[in-house]
Amino acid sequence: MIESIEVLKRLQSLKSKINELKEYQELRKQDVQKKKTQIEDKKALAEEKHEEKLSRQKEIDRKELDLKTDEGEITKYNVQLNSIKTNKEYTALCTEIGSKKADMSILEDEILNTMSKLESVNEENNKLQEDLRREEESLKNLIESVDADVKKTDIEIEEIQNDQKKYIDALDENSLKHYNRLSSIKGGKAVVAVIDNMCGGCSMKITAQTLNLLMGSNELVFCQSCSRILYLEEK
Ligand SMILES: [Zn+2]
Repeated sequence: MIESIEVLKRLQSLKSKINELKEYQELRKQDVQKKKTQIEDKKALAEEKHEEKLSRQKEIDRKELDLKTDEGEITKYNVQLNSIKTNKEYTALCTEIGSKKADMSILEDEILNTMSKLESVNEENNKLQEDLRREEESLKNLIESVDADVKKTDIEIEEIQNDQKKYIDALDENSLKHYNRLSSIKGGKAVVAVIDNMCGGCSMKITAQTLNLLMGSNELVFCQSCSRILYLEEK
């Protein structure tokens, strides 16, 4: 039969192995979450671009309509010119036509400007959509690989838990009680080595009496400062 201390050391190392595996699973799951957030952000951006596209198109439609109205009015004014009697009215109407034409010229410039903006929004949007398709594909692959990883690690954890049960069964009730209590309050480090006559948990010097117990006794020996279970590191 192996000594309690050896069993406890193994239990502790199995426990820390399980913790490592669980942390690893957590990190892998976070990778998926990060990717999902990136995609969501990109979708929101694509939605913005889409809205901008619609609003630019509306702006163009509205201005083209204004242009048509101006054109109609100029035609109307030109007809009126033929029936005008006085020089003053003639000049006034010509000024009106000139000002309408200036308005139209500004509108035309604005329309061209908005069209070129619409074109670049379209390009950006197409690029984003292409990006999104790629990202969705890579997310799918990531999820598959993480799922497989997590399943594989679950099996490893289960195997280690079975080992833990074997060791727990081999342990006397008292040692197990001490170990479980210490393990929960000392952050999983219930069993520590004595190195250079110092406790590996709290670094306090151990007494000669404790050292004697460690060398001669089969009972569990505790650090007088931090209460952790001590063992002598074999040279
Ligand atoms: Zn200690």
